[in-house]
Amino acid sequence: MSRWSLLDLLLPAACAVCKRARAGHEVDLVCGACWLRATELPRPRCDRCGHPVDVRRPPTRCAWCTLLPPYVRAVRSAFGLPGGTAESIVYALKYDGWSAVAAPMARRMAALRFPPDVERERAALVPVPLSSARLRERGYNQSEKLADGLGRLWNLPVRTDLIARERATKTQTRLTPGERQRNVANAFRSLADRGSLRGLHLVLVDDVVTTAATLNACAATLHDGGVRIVSYVTFGRAPAIGDRW
Ligand SMILES: [Zn+2]
Ligand SMILES: [Zn+2]
Repeated sequence: MSRWSLLDLLLPAACAVCKRARAGHEVDLVCGACWLRATELPRPRCDRCGHPVDVRRPPTRCAWCTLLPPYVRAVRSAFGLPGGTAESIVYALKYDGWSAVAAPMARRMAALRFPPDVERERAALVPVPLSSARLRERGYNQSEKLADGLGRLWNLPVRTDLIARERATKTQTRLTPGERQRNVANAFRSLADRGSLRGLHLVLVDDVVTTAATLNACAATLHDGGVRIVSYVTFGRAPAIGDRW
């Protein structure tokens, strides 16, 4: 717990990001000014993977789409990291113990529009699981908190009983895309009864996506268990493979 967290317990009206006192009408734990400084992912974006399209380059195959296996239908993220306050908002959720920040984060994620077939077909939300050691340390799974908020707004069930994390993986921030993939390979295992997921389209929920290695590993586990299509939704997205935004 940071030294601010204790102070925040005593002064619950402080913004979880800038620590300034929030105005009386601000019910969010993040103040209005901090939300205004969260930068949305640049437009235009790829219709499938939701990644910003570089309009200065001739239209070729979307590079971010090539990270995704063919059974991943669509990906959406609300904000770009780093820059702006989105990264600090994620930090408050994950490391400062502000689990209640998940509700206003989920509201921004719920406003993301998916292709019509995804909005029609999506049967449930699946948060990316934490290892039991990480869960003990943090006290909650931040992705599950986001999924709970989204599930209420999209009127979808949240399934935490489908996949589990076998082992704690090294933190991915300093790894190359190839290393990330090896780091999370076989990190997840299916908990679902074989056949019970057959034909479903499920949506994986995580706080941040970078190279999609973790989400892809979860999707592979679901797909092996009979899930037909998987989509992803995250709060933040970090640049990857030659991005300049
Ligand atoms: Zn603030
Ligand atoms: Zn794409």
